[in-house]
Amino acid sequence: MVKTTGVFHFRLGGIIVKRYLTTPIYYASGAPHLGHVYTMFLADCARRTTRMAGDETRLVTGTDEHGQKIERAAALAGATPGAFAGERSAAFRELWEGLGIDVSFVRTTDPAHKAVVTDFWQRLCAAGDIYKRHYTGRYCVDCEQYFTGDVGECPVHARALEHYAEDSYFFGSPATGTG
Ligand SMILES: [Zn+2]
Repeated sequence: MVKTTGVFHFRLGGIIVKRYLTTPIYYASGAPHLGHVYTMFLADCARRTTRMAGDETRLVTGTDEHGQKIERAAALAGATPGAFAGERSAAFRELWEGLGIDVSFVRTTDPAHKAVVTDFWQRLCAAGDIYKRHYTGRYCVDCEQYFTGDVGECPVHARALEHYAEDSYFFGSPATGTG
């Protein structure tokens, strides 16, 4: 899915519009596949179209290198999570370069990314928008998602859900439990 962020602009004569396009960031738990390429082609078409119209367009993508999915895939490969994710991330970046897709590539392990996320997190905490609670539920590591209701197995992976109990941070109000 291609996302266009920021406010909508209307073209006026001679005004260059700055656009920022993003894709999902891809899990560095496996090799790039056709679904990733399809998404990037759509994003690149959008970028090229807006550039042809005279806009300044930046396309950003990257890799998500955190989570149990990465940890488990690395263990299976006999590597550390950092080394494993680094190799997988490089495969994504090299693929986009090889396909001639001009992107700004961000890794969730990049120091600059960590600094921005830390700043954002601290602002949310200072505003009282983050609270911590104990959470239990049924979880699919491959989806990185909890499931509720009478679902016994993951509808995507057709495997039994795992019971998880952990302290988690939530966005919203602790008084109402919204988030
Ligand atoms: Zn799943």
